Amino acid sequence: MDAPDYKKKALLCREFGHCGKLLGKILPIFVLVSTPKYPWDETSKRNFYQTVHEMEAALISEAKRYGKSLSFESRYFYYSVKNEIGKQGKVTVEEILKEHFSDWNIDKLQNYYAEHFKVDSAPFFFVFNSFDRSYAYQGMRGYSLDGEYAILYTERKKYPAHTCMHELLHLYGANDLYYPDELKAIAEKYCPHSIMLAVDYTEVDSFTAYTIGWTDEPDRYAKYFVDYIEWLEHQPKL
Ligand SMILES: [Zn+2]
Repeated sequence: MDAPDYKKKALLCREFGHCGKLLGKILPIFVLVSTPKYPWDETSKRNFYQTVHEMEAALISEAKRYGKSLSFESRYFYYSVKNEIGKQGKVTVEEILKEHFSDWNIDKLQNYYAEHFKVDSAPFFFVFNSFDRSYAYQGMRGYSLDGEYAILYTERKKYPAHTCMHELLHLYGANDLYYPDELKAIAEKYCPHSIMLAVDYTEVDSFTAYTIGWTDEPDRYAKYFVDYIEWLEHQPKL
């Protein structure tokens, strides 16, 4: 594929979405949601704050490799729901936004926090103290989205900070590199330690760095990935 095509395709996700580039001052907003069965006790909260610290440190360190600087001012909110939630949690998120943050939509809330706290972006996370698969709704050119946010689960995670980092990167346009199999095979060969391939590592590979705005000159292997982006763009980002 030649360079113009490559750029055109990569731009499907590059720097798109409400959060734009992952640069400057970041204000991640974590809404810790308690359910009757899985409340947030003090120990769980402390563990999660530590998880966020580790994620911030890993991102700052990776950004440095690309000559970029980041700073974080994470904020926490707490919310309790009366019933256990379904797997997708979408109704719960809408309910939380409406009841806890007034009836603003999530885009407006992000604008409010970014302006009020003078930060570059304010990604939203809804965090459950239970076990399931974390995921992110990410913005992509060509289709509309109610809002961008990530759902995190904390229990029984081997690398909770890495999972948090992976989902945050989605909110800035990063794509999974483990699906479909053809894409995974390329990623395993050229960036086996990428956090978008597996959460055992925290490396931000060159292609991911390009999509989140850390570099304008991705490595040559990155061009193989974009052949598969169109396959991915309408998938929920797991
Ligand atoms: Zn993912």
